Amino acid sequence: MDPAKSRRQQERPSRTAQGQPSESKGKRNESGRRPRHNEQPPSNDDESTAAVPPRFFCPVCKRWRPYEIKRARKLLPRSLRTTDEPSDEVECQLCSRTFPLTALDYDPKAAKQEKNEARERFVEGMQRAMAAMVMIDGRLTFHEIEAMRSVVQQVTNQPCDNDRLDAALHKVRGRLDEVVEYLRESKELLSEKRRNKILRAVVYVAVASGTIDDSQVMLARRIGEALELGPRTVRQAIEEGEKNGRS
Ligand SMILES: [Zn+2]
Repeated sequence: MDPAKSRRQQERPSRTAQGQPSESKGKRNESGRRPRHNEQPPSNDDESTAAVPPRFFCPVCKRWRPYEIKRARKLLPRSLRTTDEPSDEVECQLCSRTFPLTALDYDPKAAKQEKNEARERFVEGMQRAMAAMVMIDGRLTFHEIEAMRSVVQQVTNQPCDNDRLDAALHKVRGRLDEVVEYLRESKELLSEKRRNKILRAVVYVAVASGTIDDSQVMLARRIGEALELGPRTVRQAIEEGEKNGRS
């Protein structure tokens, strides 16, 4: 109600100037003018987007900074270009350092989230793999359980009580294929170091009971294959595990 009233007030002088004091005629004039009021906002929007320069996360400043793209002068025609030919770079407008264009894609929040996800996958994958290993021969020994507990505690830096162990074992009971599949899905998120750690943890719990039987060797191979570690790496891990288990 109020905006319409004020509009009418603004238009009143022109109406009186044109000599049209009648209310009904005035209303028709007002509706005819309305589109002109709507023409203003778009130009305001253009101004506000132009005022905010694009930003990137500068690896040196460790802050979001305005940048400029520095176009490299191409010395050779495309067909003759070599890999050491200068390429376009992004320049931080505060520290003036330049970076490859890939710096524009970096988002510290997303990177941190990815890192956390990878860590969760590592811990969960290792736990499931160990649980599958201690259960595969059909008899759960005290030494296997304690070996698994010590690895979980070491990796998570948290105490691992019986409930947690029980839950971990329950999760994979009768689901061997799913465990292997989980590891296969996770391997993209895991560094080679972490994949090796999972394999060694699996062998460690397997030899905890004294010997590593055929079913356990087979599972270690499957896990190694799912993690793309290669048969030689798996063989070495088993040999080392057996040697450490005996001593
Ligand atoms: Zn900077």
